[in-house]
Amino acid sequence: MPEEKPHILLVEDEIHLARGICFNLEQENCRVSHVESGEEALERLKYDRFSLVILDVMLPGMDGFKVCKEIRQMDTRVPVLILTARSEEGDRITGLESGADDYLTKPFSLSEFLLRVGGMLRRSSWYRPEPVEEAYRFGDNEVFLLSYHAKTAQGEIDLTELEVKMLAFFFQREGEAITRKALLEKVWGYSSNTETRTLDNFIVRLRKYFEPNPANPVYFQTVRGVGYRFSRGAREA
Ligand code: CA
Repeated sequence: MPEEKPHILLVEDEIHLARGICFNLEQENCRVSHVESGEEALERLKYDRFSLVILDVMLPGMDGFKVCKEIRQMDTRVPVLILTARSEEGDRITGLESGADDYLTKPFSLSEFLLRVGGMLRRSSWYRPEPVEEAYRFGDNEVFLLSYHAKTAQGEIDLTELEVKMLAFFFQREGEAITRKALLEKVWGYSSNTETRTLDNFIVRLRKYFEPNPANPVYFQTVRGVGYRFSRGAREA
């Protein structure tokens, strides 16, 4: 198979930072297309396929959160890494709610950045769900891992790459308590425990999609002090 360089779309208006990022990613054997606004990014995404989008939040014109939402309406599979200058929890949550798969707070170290990007690229190229396009059913939900969509009580939804990966991991281990560490490692590729808010926000998202009452989850259960457990059968109320 011909080796294809991952093609990354960088959306960053700070030219010096963008140059540094481009240089370092090219050193890592990536191809980088750089644009300076969200509007340009959306234009590029209409006719080009990317392995990853790196998206700054503070942009002239449309902000990164809005851009991310638009990307999700066009192509729900491309992984999106958000760069935020602010470290407030609210921003991280807004980022993940807008459909981003991960975020990095500025200023970040080069090694941390390359680690994240490497992990996201590995997932998008390696990860292939089980080759069975039969719906996985629980409650009123039907999940189609191969075609990245689901039917829920609220209607049909598209799933992102990371959502599919996390669901597949839960389904494989139905009924087992899965540690936060295992989830972070298997789904995000982290070996540290430092970014657990990312995980919690993803669980919130899954509950919103699939739980009849997200505040009182029956399928995606919290296992206190451990992590989470997926159960297909509703627990006794
Ligand atoms: Ca900026």
